[in-house]
Amino acid sequence: MDRGNQMLQVSGSICRLRSAVLSVPCLGLLVALLLAPALASQERNVFETDTHRFTEVRNQIYLAQSTARVFNSSSLVVVNDDDVVVVDSHVTPSKARDLIASIKELTDKPISALINSHHHWDHAHGNQEFDDLPIIGHEYAYKRLSGDVRADPTFVRGLEGNQATIERILQQIAEAEDGEGKTALQAYLEMFRAHAADFDEIEPEPPNVTLKERMTLHRPGRGEIQILFLGRAHTGGDLMVYFPQDKLVFTGDVAFGGPSFLGDGYVGEWPQTLENLKALDFDIFVPGHGPPVTDLRRIDLVQEYYRDLWRLAAEKHAAGVSAEDAAKTIDLTHHTEIPINNVGVDLISIQRIYHLLDNPQ
Ligand SMILES: [Zn+2]
Repeated sequence: MDRGNQMLQVSGSICRLRSAVLSVPCLGLLVALLLAPALASQERNVFETDTHRFTEVRNQIYLAQSTARVFNSSSLVVVNDDDVVVVDSHVTPSKARDLIASIKELTDKPISALINSHHHWDHAHGNQEFDDLPIIGHEYAYKRLSGDVRADPTFVRGLEGNQATIERILQQIAEAEDGEGKTALQAYLEMFRAHAADFDEIEPEPPNVTLKERMTLHRPGRGEIQILFLGRAHTGGDLMVYFPQDKLVFTGDVAFGGPSFLGDGYVGEWPQTLENLKALDFDIFVPGHGPPVTDLRRIDLVQEYYRDLWRLAAEKHAAGVSAEDAAKTIDLTHHTEIPINNVGVDLISIQRIYHLLDNPQ
C-alpha cells in the first residue's frame, strides 16, 4: 500500500516536534534552526509513524527524520514505481530498524538498495540492518568502515558526546525542583541511556558495492539516480545522490545552508567540490541534517567562508601560531549571513587544517 495519498498536509516546519524538546546541542539541530525559514513558507506532505517523520520533498522522494530526541542524521527515502532506495542508515542498528519499520508503513514496495553518503557513524552505523541488500558507497567509505571503526576519532567523539549528555541530564535532575519537570528529566535520562546502550550493538558494516567516480541506478518512472563523487570535502569519499528528473540532490554533510563539521574535512578543496555541485541542474538540495534548502545562494556563502577560513588558518600556520591560539583569534565575523557571533573558530577545525598543511595528501 502506498500512503502517499493519505498524508496529512501540514506546514513544513520540521522544528515542530511531537513533545517538548530538551536541549541536545548538535550540528543537525543547529542547522535545522538556522534554516527553518527556508522551509517554513512551503506546504509539504508529511507522513508520521511512531518513530519517524517523512516529508515529501519531490515526487515521492522523502526526507526521513527520526523523532527521537537524540542526535541522528536524516535519510532520504526514494519510493519508485517498483522499489524503494534509501540513502543513509542512521546512527545505530536500533534507529535503522525503526526506519525500516516506518518505511513499511509508508509503502509496501521493497527496499532494493542502501546508499551511504559517507562513512561517518551517524550516517552509516545502521548499515548492518541492510546487509542483505546492495550497500553502495565510495571506496574511501569502504576503507574507513573496514578498519578499526571503534577507534575512529569522530566515532569516539560521538561516544564521548553520549556520556556528556548523560552527565548533563544528571546535573539538571540534581538541580531541578521536585515535580513534573524533574519527572520529565528522569524519563529523558532513561530514554537517552537506552539509546547510548544501543551503540554496543554496532558492528560496522562497510558498503558491499563501491565506486570511485560515479554510478547510475535506473528506475522506471524515476529516471536516473546518479551517485556522484564530486571531489573531497567533508570526508575523502563523499557521494552526492542526484535526481536529474526531479532537480534534487541529497548532499549528505557536504552542503548545508551553513558550515559543516570540518574534523575529517578537506577545507582547501571543499569550495571546488561545491563548485562542481553547483554545475548540476537542481533547485533544491537535502542535507544530511536539517530541512531541505531552496536558497542555493547559501552554497556561495559557505564557499567564501571555507576559502577565508583556509587562507587565515594557513597564514597563522605559516607564522608559527599554535592551533590553540589560531582557534581563538581567527576572525570570520564579517561572514554575517553564516552567522558567526564571536571571534574564534572551533579548535577541531583548526587542528584538521594544520594537519593537512603538515601532511599534504
Ligand atoms: Zn559527516
